[in-house]
Formats: sequence, C-alpha cells, structure tokens
Amino acid sequence: MQSSVTKMVDRFGVKPGRLWIGGAWTDVDERFDQIHPATNEIVTSIADAGTGAVDLAVAAARKAFDTGPWPRMGAKERKKILVRLQARIEDAKEELGYLQTLDNGIPINFSLNSRVSANMTVDIFDHYAGWIDKITGETFPRYTDAANLHYMTFRDPVGVVGAIIPWNAPLVMFALKVAPALATGCTIVMKASELANLAVLRLAEIVAECDLPPGVFNLVTGGPATGEALSTHPGVDKVSFTGSAAVGERIMAKAGSNMKRLSLELGGKSAVIVFPDTRDLKVAATSIMSLSSTFLSGQVCSTPTRALVHRSVVDEFVAHAQQQISAVKFGDPFDMTTTSAPIISRRQTDRVMSYIETGSAEGARLVFGGDRPGNELADGNWINPTLFTDVRSDMRIAQDEIFGPVLSVIPFDTEEEAITIANDSVYGLSGGVYTTDLSRAFRVGRAMHTGTVGINGYSLMPNSPAGGVKRSGIGREGGWATIEAFTELKTLILNLDA
Ligand code: NAD
Repeated sequence: MQSSVTKMVDRFGVKPGRLWIGGAWTDVDERFDQIHPATNEIVTSIADAGTGAVDLAVAAARKAFDTGPWPRMGAKERKKILVRLQARIEDAKEELGYLQTLDNGIPINFSLNSRVSANMTVDIFDHYAGWIDKITGETFPRYTDAANLHYMTFRDPVGVVGAIIPWNAPLVMFALKVAPALATGCTIVMKASELANLAVLRLAEIVAECDLPPGVFNLVTGGPATGEALSTHPGVDKVSFTGSAAVGERIMAKAGSNMKRLSLELGGKSAVIVFPDTRDLKVAATSIMSLSSTFLSGQVCSTPTRALVHRSVVDEFVAHAQQQISAVKFGDPFDMTTTSAPIISRRQTDRVMSYIETGSAEGARLVFGGDRPGNELADGNWINPTLFTDVRSDMRIAQDEIFGPVLSVIPFDTEEEAITIANDSVYGLSGGVYTTDLSRAFRVGRAMHTGTVGINGYSLMPNSPAGGVKRSGIGREGGWATIEAFTELKTLILNLDA
C-alpha cells in the first residue's frame, strides 16, 4: 500500500477552518473537504466563505483602503513591513514546502527546491519590496507660453484587489498577487483554490504576525461561488485572476458593471519548435518530456505540450523522450525520490484519460503511456506519461489544454510551416525554440504569437514579465509591468497663474 499522506496534518498543526478578515480570524459554519490527489484521503475540512464572508472581507479591505494608513504610508515604512514579511516566509519555508505537497501532491523535492518553492516566494516578495521607493511619475515641459500650467503624474494604488488563484503552485501564486498589491499600497482579498488551501492559510498566519493595519490583507477560502462573489463584488476595484481560460472569460464578461481593472493569467497550449541543428537533441527531448512526465506532471500553464519536431529527427526525438520516462517514479509525495505529481482530482483524471482516447480515435499514434498504474497506486490519481506522434494541428489533443502528462509530437518540414503550426492555437502563453542558429532563433521567437518564448530552454524570474496573448489572458506578472497593473496614473495640473 502506498503510505497515507494524512500523517503530515498533525505534524504541521494545521488550523484550516477559518478565514482572516479585517485583522482577525473568523469562523463560518459551512465547510468542505480538501482531498489529497495521491491517495484520495480527506486531508482536512476547510471553511466555505460564500457571499456573506466575502462581503465582510471586501468591506474590511474597502475601509482599510479608503480611510486607513496603508495607501498613504511612507515608502520606507511600507517597505519595512514587506521586508519583515519576506523574512518570516524565509523562516517558514520548509514548513510551507511540506504544506504545499499536502495541498496538491507535488513531490516534496520540487516543493522545497524548484521554481514553485517558498524560495521563489521569498524572491518575489524581495523583488516587489524593492520597487516601493521607486514607483515614480513624470513631469512634463510647459507646453505653451500662453499658460503657466505644470503637469505631473503619480502612480496611485488601484484600490481593493480581489485575487483568485489556482491549485497548482499556491506559494508562488500567493506571492505574485499579494506582493505587488502590498508594494503599491493596495488592499487585498485573496481567495485560495478550493483544492489547495493549507500553504496559503499558513502564509496568512505569517501575514497576521507582521503588523499590517487591519483589513489590508484578507483571506477567504471556498469554491467557484466564493470566487464569483469576490470577482463580481462592487467594492472590488481590480481582479487579479490566475486559472483556466473558461473562468477568466466569465470574470471578464462580468467585470464591466463597475469597470473593474483586470489581470488574467490563463491557460496555454504552448509549442516548442525543435530544429535539426539543435546542439543536443537528447537534452532537448529529455527536458521537454520531463515537463510533461515529472514535477507537476504537465499540470503547469506554460508546459510545452506541443513538440513541433523537424521530420528528419522525429524518431530520434521520440526515442530520447521514451528513455526519459525510465527516470519517473510515482508514490509517496513526501519521499524525496518521488519525481511526479498525481493528477489533482478524480474528475480531472477522467478528463485526461478521455483526451487520450480521443487522440487515438483521431488517428494520432500512441507511442507510450495512455494508461494508469495499478496495484498500490490504484487509490490515487496517477496517469503514466504519454506521448503521441503523427499528431496533426487540427486534432483536439493539439488544440485543447489537457493539463496532464500528455505530449503531442507534430512533425514539420520547413521553418514557415513550424511557425504556422505554432500559431494555430487559440492560446498564446509561452513557447520555445531549439536551434544553434541564432538568426533563426530570433526570427522564429519573434514570429511566435505568445507572451514569452524560451530559446534553448525556459525559466521565469520575478523581475521579468510573463503572461499571455489571445485566450491565455491579459496583462503581465513580473517587474515594472505589474507595478503598472496595480496602479492608476493620476495627472496633477498646477496653475501658477492663479
Ligand atoms: P480554475 O479556473 O478551475 O480555478 C481557478 C480559481 O478560480 C480557483 O480558485 C476557483 O475556485 C476559482 N473559480 C472557479 N470558478 C469561478 C468563478 N465562476 N468566478 C470566480 N472564481 C472562480 O483553474 P484551476 O484548475 O485551479 O487551475 C488550472 C488552470 O489554471 C489551467 O488552465 C492553467 O493553465 C491555469 N494557470 C495559469 C497560470 C498562468 O500564469 N497563466 C498559472 C497557473 C495555472
């Protein structure tokens, strides 16, 4: 039998059934269960905020923004609080890593050490704390001798932010919303994913220890109804949402009523183009396959799920990819040698399996995987790494975001054809190019209609922007672009003739 994961609940003294609103912990009667994807055991019961608690949280954030000290505080004083928060997160980073694995089954080695670890959370707070005393406006030359008018701009905080995050990287998602909101002087109501609450609840406890004025940061837990109550609330000025395109579209459709500002970080169907002059085809194939087979098992928005491979090297690419999966190890997510996450829910497992059936039915060639491991893993949501080749761009497995361990290999003959296939998608989140020809890398990278493109590798850092075009969203997270997204430009006109 695969070991139980619930032992970790007692180890970390989780106190899950409460919400942080207006500077105090609040209980609600409604609860729901958080289930662990590796075993389908109930981990704990979580408070279901619903409309009533969202109203309270937004009212607290509204009051803190409209009349509280936070938006008006000096940069030095505000920065001091963010730096304190960053230090406390650093102190708790191991515990946070374990809680994230208890939330979503990401193997503990990745939860502690990868780009979704608390280390990255600390770096994101560090980055945004650094902006606080550098959020500047402009002054403009006097336009005409006819008037002694002087113009200057300020970047004011956008107001009350409703932040809604997905389940797959709760530590980093929390930081990507809370750090820029606090840095710019906004107040915030954060909603965790109903599938992954514990790491975020622990982060809220840490925020609670950092002397923020009451109502500046609020946390609610709950499902779609709670998210909808928050994202449509008239007291919210901006929604910062990361999640699926379907929910993002719904939020956008309803945001018009009070002209909410929106940042939407949505899904993807990213293409990576592998040319035959790639320096090391084995390295390229292994790293592309490992993003679908290890870590979060393809449950990452930016995963390259379409490998566009030059026809002359398809067989070699597929052989290297097949070798890579011998490194895959399923099992106890708290074992440092486990390499791959389970699928987040039974429902999503069924959905991925049905895409695998569709791929075969559409005529793609299943090279390996396509099934589920049995025996001691049968209670969990595991799917073996799966690779299809001979995939055509019009097939559903080449068009839809599957969000699981399924890689589609699409052969191409010319650079132009590769670009056309890469751009034949409703999504435009990320992309990649493998080649040693820098001119080609530049040409193709520029021609791919996506928010980011990695040349011979892909990694995101807190100080550079990432986000999507087309159905992958609106706005960017990282660097100055985010400061702009959490502020409003205010022009002050000084009439010296008066
Ligand atoms: P999801 O859209 O199902 O849920 C995301 C959040 O939205 C959850 O907190 C959920 O409770 C809430 N929600 C659900 N219905 C809502 C509604 N009607 N109104 C308001 N909120 C609502 O997504 P998920 O399954 O948690 O995450 C997977 C998706 O997130 C994938 O599509 C993935 O590509 C995307 N994602 C994108 C990025 C990015 O940076 N672009 C990062 C991570 C994940």
